[in-house]
Amino acid sequence: MEESTTEVTINQAKLRIIQGDITQQDTEAIVNAANPSLMGGGGVDGAIHRAGGPAILEECKQIVSRQGRLPTGKAVITGGGNLKAKYVIHTVGPIWHGGQKGETELLASAYQESLKLAAENNIRSLSFPSISTGAYGYPVAQAAKVAVGAVTAFLRQSPTSVREVVLVLFDSQTFSVYLSALKEQ
Ligand code: ADP
Repeated sequence: MEESTTEVTINQAKLRIIQGDITQQDTEAIVNAANPSLMGGGGVDGAIHRAGGPAILEECKQIVSRQGRLPTGKAVITGGGNLKAKYVIHTVGPIWHGGQKGETELLASAYQESLKLAAENNIRSLSFPSISTGAYGYPVAQAAKVAVGAVTAFLRQSPTSVREVVLVLFDSQTFSVYLSALKEQ
């Protein structure tokens, strides 16, 4: 596969897609597809808490006790515990209810709010998983378009600290769908 097909440059920042495990990424931050309780769970959320250790959950509990459950489309930041990444940005994607319940806007918001929080914290590089396309049931092709569109729009704005965004897809099928979305961009 040619390198050019998996990476685009926008405003001197890179948007890259790879197949892999987000817990192993060495970007400055990784994004967690959390749920509103921030108490961990299955899928990528469970994997991040297992790999990162209890410090992340401790911080999540403190956030919830301060501000309550995390609404869909919003994001918060914690340290990265034992991960290579220094930070974890926890966001909540929408549950798919057929597409007429604001799912597109809420998914775009999850990406945008995470990127905004990264910029506010002077983060230069971050990795995203495929938010909402596991247990939350969002169709992958539609989610891929939203993800690529939201990141591209963010990077096109006035320059921020964010220089590199990596979309980390766990399985080859999801990876190839995101690859198509990136090519169509
Ligand atoms: P959601 O509840 O937002 O749908 P899930 O964790 O169920 O979140 O799934 C989101 C995506 O994350 C799915 O494509 C799933 O295959 C993927 N995933 C699961 N584990 C990992 C991991 N370690 N690294 C990257 N992606 C992962």
